[in-house]
Amino acid sequence: MPTVLVVVEAQPDGKLKKATLNAITAARALGDVHAVVLAKDATALAAEVKDYVKVVHAGSAAHVEHYLAETWAPAVAEVAKAISAEWVGAAATQQGRDLMPRVAAKLNAAMASDIMAVNGTTLTRPMWAGAVIAEVTLSTPVKAFTVRTTEFALAEKAGGAGEVKAFAPAPVTSPTKFVEFKEVKSARPELTEARIVVSGGRGTKGDFKEVEALADELGAAVGASRAVCDAGWQPNDLQVGQTGKVVAPSLYVAAGISGAIQHLAGMKGSKTIVAINKDGEAPIFQVADYGLVADLFKALPELRAAIKAAK
Ligand SMILES: Cc1cc2nc3c(=O)[nH]c(=O)nc-3n(C[C@H](O)[C@H](O)[C@H](O)COP(=O)(O)OP(=O)(O)OC[C@H]3O[C@@H](n4cnc5c(N)ncnc54)[C@H](O)[C@@H]3O)c2cc1C
Repeated sequence: MPTVLVVVEAQPDGKLKKATLNAITAARALGDVHAVVLAKDATALAAEVKDYVKVVHAGSAAHVEHYLAETWAPAVAEVAKAISAEWVGAAATQQGRDLMPRVAAKLNAAMASDIMAVNGTTLTRPMWAGAVIAEVTLSTPVKAFTVRTTEFALAEKAGGAGEVKAFAPAPVTSPTKFVEFKEVKSARPELTEARIVVSGGRGTKGDFKEVEALADELGAAVGASRAVCDAGWQPNDLQVGQTGKVVAPSLYVAAGISGAIQHLAGMKGSKTIVAINKDGEAPIFQVADYGLVADLFKALPELRAAIKAAK
């Protein structure tokens, strides 16, 4: 069986990010899964991960405390070489997308980004914002990949704890320094982990009050189209789409979003899609399970009132 190394990602509080479990499911289809954890003290996170993989390589060092591609990539490559990993991958989160190309370069590995399925050694990945689905095989001895988390279930525990091997990542001189992490505290769930997402587009004209009120009524995360983030109406980390976050909640409500292909690339895997748009010809209706041709400023409060009454 080939050895597959998965890079573990932590949440800001240091706990395991669920996306890693989706990546482990994809990795299991490729071979024996090892994981690499990097932190100031990797012990606790390694203990969380060991039930899911064969071996956890727990790298503890001050210079990998805060994620930076420049400091993490050498450590990941070091482990990959030491265990002769044939595959090296991570979840296609902001961090995984940033890290893996650099790891691939260090290992002279070909890379498939955002893989959606694994069939033997053939990987399925989207191209042109999902307009083309390609089947690719990688011909280099070491191969890199990132995993579209919404396409793979969360890994179950493997049944029997894996081995934890501690190592000290070699020091790195990086031109990039970590300065500060400013966490935006929100009572709402994280966008990529939420069961329900309510997103607003340019049709809101920047007024997100009704989008947020519906989200809060439903216990949902708030998302946005790129038009909204580019206009500075909402922060970039709310952007859903090809160049934003990929989400696949049980329910996705799109209000005042036209449904450009780049937006659809980030949400069309949602189980149920509700679209509210005053233009009946808007492309979002082609992917919507329920479509409402209406003014969002009228429809959203009515929907919220109906949900409240039904509760
Ligand atoms: C390389 C590249 C990457 C991109 N990546 C992304 C991405 O990651 N995510 C993303 O979202 N976009 C992305 N885009 C941009 C994308 O092409 C669209 O421009 C963008 O999604 C449009 O956002 P929108 O639907 O909010 O705005 P618009 O297309 O302007 O649509 C606004 C909609 O609101 C409706 N509307 C207006 N007023 C109301 C009202 N009162 N009530 C109800 N409906 C109303 C209109 O009928 C219209 O359909 C990318 C583009 C490129 C080129």
